[in-house]
Amino acid sequence: MTRFIFITGGVVSSLGKGLASASLGALLQARGYKVRLRKLDPYINVDPGTMSPYQHGEVYVTDDGAETDLDLGHYERFTNVDAKQSDNVTTGRIYSQVIARERRGEYLGATIQVIPHITDAIKEFVKADLNGEDFVLCEIGGTVGDIESLPFLEAIRQLGNDLGRRQTMFVHVTLVPFIAAAGELKTKPTQHSVRELQNVGIQADLLLCRSEQTIPDSERRKIANFCNVREDAVIPAMDVKNIYQVPVSYHAEGLDREVCRHFELDYAEEPDLEPWEHVAKRAVEPEGEVAVAVVGKYTGLKDAYKSLSEALAHGGIANNVKVNLKWIESEIFENGGTVQALEDAHAILVPGGFGERGAEGKIEAARFARERGVPYFGICFGMQMAVVEAARNLAGIEKAGSTEFGPCEEPIVGLMTEWKKDGIRETRDEGSDKGGTMRLGAYPCVLGDNSRVKQIYDEAEISERHRHRYEVNMAYEPHLAKAGLIFSGKSPDGVLPEIVEIPDHPWFIGVQFHPELKSRPFQPHPLFTDFIRAAVDQSRLV
Ligand code: GLN
Repeated sequence: MTRFIFITGGVVSSLGKGLASASLGALLQARGYKVRLRKLDPYINVDPGTMSPYQHGEVYVTDDGAETDLDLGHYERFTNVDAKQSDNVTTGRIYSQVIARERRGEYLGATIQVIPHITDAIKEFVKADLNGEDFVLCEIGGTVGDIESLPFLEAIRQLGNDLGRRQTMFVHVTLVPFIAAAGELKTKPTQHSVRELQNVGIQADLLLCRSEQTIPDSERRKIANFCNVREDAVIPAMDVKNIYQVPVSYHAEGLDREVCRHFELDYAEEPDLEPWEHVAKRAVEPEGEVAVAVVGKYTGLKDAYKSLSEALAHGGIANNVKVNLKWIESEIFENGGTVQALEDAHAILVPGGFGERGAEGKIEAARFARERGVPYFGICFGMQMAVVEAARNLAGIEKAGSTEFGPCEEPIVGLMTEWKKDGIRETRDEGSDKGGTMRLGAYPCVLGDNSRVKQIYDEAEISERHRHRYEVNMAYEPHLAKAGLIFSGKSPDGVLPEIVEIPDHPWFIGVQFHPELKSRPFQPHPLFTDFIRAAVDQSRLV
């Protein structure tokens, strides 16, 4: 039997609902259950692919090429279950589906309404594409009380009735703020939020109460009484130092035990959380530290590079060091700023990005790293800019540039108009829709013999996830190779360049894909592990 756990949030946003869901998934997994996590987002965009990372954080890409919410990244990192397109849906996608069906006449003349047509489509989504999971955890984005979330709440309320209490559970994440002036924890916002849920017919079964302070038993009792929840099911969820401590901490407060109890499952045997304890210990008690400069455009909002900072942290865990990130706005190099900011970095990383603003600064950063022998990791846009830099300054192609910034005499990076995915030809042109039309998802890549990347991966063929519209121009390969930049990873048909490296440099690698999306705390990505190792070597030199 597949059981459904619906996770809603109340009081304020940014309560860490995604992490809480991911942690509950990990705990149930540690108890031997098969889990799947899904995110239902109430906004109108069809997917977050067209949203600014400033507003919504990073776009997480799955193997099957879906552009999804960054919470799916937490789910994958915590459970190691690969997410799919069928794990993230938005209001926009649901409405698009329903309207398309209406246009095809599939509703046989009915008047299309939120209830039942939209809610039915949401329910279908929740139950679709499952494969013998014991638990499906569905997180509802936004905060209870938002207009947009109403159809989602109605749909999960109905599912509670359709499937019955033994197959569904409602978890509500709330905030219990500490009011310093009064020296007290306040339970009233939680009471209101739970009542808001009751207004739409949902009775929370378990409350996860985020708080900076320990919640005393008296307050727990009060919350239980006012919110109509058993006292044991009021779980204090205290702030922790590191996100990888969350599963162990929530377990200690009884989260997974209470979920098992709700479903009348045996909970007497303790789950094995040793791997989590190990990772958390490594993360909070490292033996050394290194500084990595991340030269990007959205450095103001750390969520814009969520998977990247996690992957770097995993590289740190693997090398038993803390990775201190120095976020550097690439435009500073263009506005008369000096490369001084890079001087004390032990390694430099230029992540993915879009558009011309800040591009010259990234090229400068790549040049600095190449000339000074500082480890350089270029990811997607960071690879493209490193190739432009090498073309200009190593191969002497002065006008080298990318057509992403307009017409270009020497298009080292150009718009990709045709490629193959699973043997099927895909084409795009300048006028294509912006949403969902990039080279997206997992593609195979063959690693060059005797290359550094082959040594690092210890494999001949790899699969990595993509999200880009432009591509390094293969026509320039001979020039660049002669100048010292080799193409060490290519698509199996040899048509698409995937990895470049400079053999004559301590560590200079650019990848067209996003390796950060596949790094896990228990299986740090080999490129990040080796990049941080190189940073540690560099830190011993300076
Ligand atoms: N803007 C570049 C492209 O579309 C790089 C994209 C990225 O870094 N994800 O190809």
